[in-house]
Amino acid sequence: MNLGVQYYRAPFPEEKYWEDDLARIKDSGLNTVQFWVLWAWVESKPGEFRFEDYDRLVELADKNGLGVILSTIAEIQPYWIHREVPGSEMIDHTGQKVISSNRGECHFGLTPGGCTDHPGVWERMQAFLREVATRYRTAGNLRGWDAWNELRWNVQADGLVCFCEHTLRAFRDWLKAKYGSLEELNRVWKRRYGSFEEILPGKLPDRPYTEMMAFEHFITWRANQHGKDRYDLIKSLDPDRPVTVHAASPSPLTGGWGHDHAINRGNDWFYADDLDGVGCSSFPKWSGMDDADFGMRVEYVQSASQGKLVWLSEVQGGRAAIGFQVYMPVDAISQQRYTWNGIACGADTILFWCWRDEVFGRESAGFGLSGDDGLAEERLAAMSITGGLIQEHSDLLKSYRPAKPQVGVFFSPQTYYLSWAQEGNAGRSMGALQGYCRSLVRSSIPYVVVEEEHLDVLSDLKILFMPRNLVTDEQTENALARFVEGGGTLVCESECGAFSSQGLYRYPADRFTARLSGIRELGRRSLDADSIRVSIDGQVFDLGVTQWLTPWQTGAGNVLSQGEEGALVTEVPVGSGNIVLCGAYLGDAYLQNYTRDFEIFVETLVRRSGWAPEIQVVSPEPTKDSFVYVKSGESMGKKIVFVFFPADHNQVHLRFRSDFFSGDRAKDLISGEEITVSSTIPGQECLLNAPDWRFSVLVSE
Ligand SMILES: [Zn+2]
Repeated sequence: MNLGVQYYRAPFPEEKYWEDDLARIKDSGLNTVQFWVLWAWVESKPGEFRFEDYDRLVELADKNGLGVILSTIAEIQPYWIHREVPGSEMIDHTGQKVISSNRGECHFGLTPGGCTDHPGVWERMQAFLREVATRYRTAGNLRGWDAWNELRWNVQADGLVCFCEHTLRAFRDWLKAKYGSLEELNRVWKRRYGSFEEILPGKLPDRPYTEMMAFEHFITWRANQHGKDRYDLIKSLDPDRPVTVHAASPSPLTGGWGHDHAINRGNDWFYADDLDGVGCSSFPKWSGMDDADFGMRVEYVQSASQGKLVWLSEVQGGRAAIGFQVYMPVDAISQQRYTWNGIACGADTILFWCWRDEVFGRESAGFGLSGDDGLAEERLAAMSITGGLIQEHSDLLKSYRPAKPQVGVFFSPQTYYLSWAQEGNAGRSMGALQGYCRSLVRSSIPYVVVEEEHLDVLSDLKILFMPRNLVTDEQTENALARFVEGGGTLVCESECGAFSSQGLYRYPADRFTARLSGIRELGRRSLDADSIRVSIDGQVFDLGVTQWLTPWQTGAGNVLSQGEEGALVTEVPVGSGNIVLCGAYLGDAYLQNYTRDFEIFVETLVRRSGWAPEIQVVSPEPTKDSFVYVKSGESMGKKIVFVFFPADHNQVHLRFRSDFFSGDRAKDLISGEEITVSSTIPGQECLLNAPDWRFSVLVSE
């Protein structure tokens, strides 16, 4: 495992610190350092590459027994780019040339710089990447490459991009490849275009969906393609080391805003198809994440990775600083909790951002693992314990895989595009997905996020939730039908599949849910209350709702919630499976206003689909701000169970499936304590007391 820290964003920290810092990094239990290799800095004059600082740092790292990860920052471009490649500026949605400038948190280089769809820009960028890869592939301590930091390409464009002639040509080529011919595009889009050149990309939200959704989809694809191009180049020169890229946030959390289209930095699932793995950044104290929020982030990446590498490419080192704001300091125990939460979710590389406090611009005085928020000593002391444990148990942790989920939550980029096309962000869709995932995390039910074009995973699942899934196309619908007919349970929210991926609305009777169930929704109705009452097998739940209701016809299946005009939740058998039809939005309502009822409702549906828990928290019961967070998996034939104690409880009672542990003992890898596992009628049980760090990593003996 790589446990490391970002060190150098040229030209900081200055050289006078390097020797002592790298020795101290090694002493604090970390085994890896990361350096940003900036295009603008390295090739400040065209064709002249200067690496003396990186050479020295790689050598110093080696001297201290540290591995190196190189982060190739080709998106911070040289100041000469537009001079050497005339006409390479991005063009914004108003037709203006984008004026590039220094990046807010980077000392030297242009952003966004030239458009990579311009062949001259890409040629120059390739030359830089080739120089870097060729120079450092022979370094014995090089551990791998992060080929694209936070997938940034349009930062500070100050408008929607890109509408340059090269990007528009690529857009139209993409449409040609997708539809084959103009006739086919016109047939599917129901248009009468006379040529591909007449097709304009969507400009702003709240206008026709079709062109906007197509353009957003293209923008995602284009980012994926650029990531793959960087990967292919580096990999062709250094085939044996891992090459990944990382997002600022996992794709399901990139709903877009302002000048960012939804999922405009590429789709993690497609990166994982092509690359060695994917990663994400996480700054939990800055953004106020709890165990569930942090775990969900990593699980989104882990779902996308499809078994490839998962990197936590930036985890908060010390207190955040943005401008003159003061944020929460980072205490050692919280930081270790994130670290082990990441390991529990399957991360194999964890890099903290960053070693020293930043000295440049808006981020100055912030983020240092060894920085001045008053807690550096305790952080480094704790890190050295984790570093020791990771070294001691390296084989066990390397082979660890999280438990295979039987529960899925559907992620539909097309729905995000549609939502953005209407509202300029996909916040509602994001909230819905997060609501279901959060509820599952808090109930210790392993789940996988299922991306709409990666449906093979359905064959492992018993139940699939489709939060606010407005868009489906025929291929998805066929896969979902097979899933249900083969015995799966499909849970749909209001207007599931109401639009095609061309953004065209379908009448209720024309939707796949109506074809599968034989009943249809009656149309949108105003909410007259903020909750609905649902009964399942005598259990009654009051569930929050948002936006509108779409009652369902009754007459088929089993009504679980009766509204004035029709069923608000109904369950219809289809083939060997079931479809649960909700005429409401429940997931984002739960995210906004916590109810325990929603969590029990979700767990009840999961259990009715045939899933049974391997591990249950018998006590304490979850409350709004407190829950026992449990993750588990296997390694080298052993069970590993991660148990994170809530702040307000010092004892946790767990029940396991009867043959979960092979013996009657487990060991807490963190505290070294032996734990007794007793066999009872319902299963195996243990009582755990909170150790100093307030989490345990149990390994079966
Ligand atoms: Zn362009």
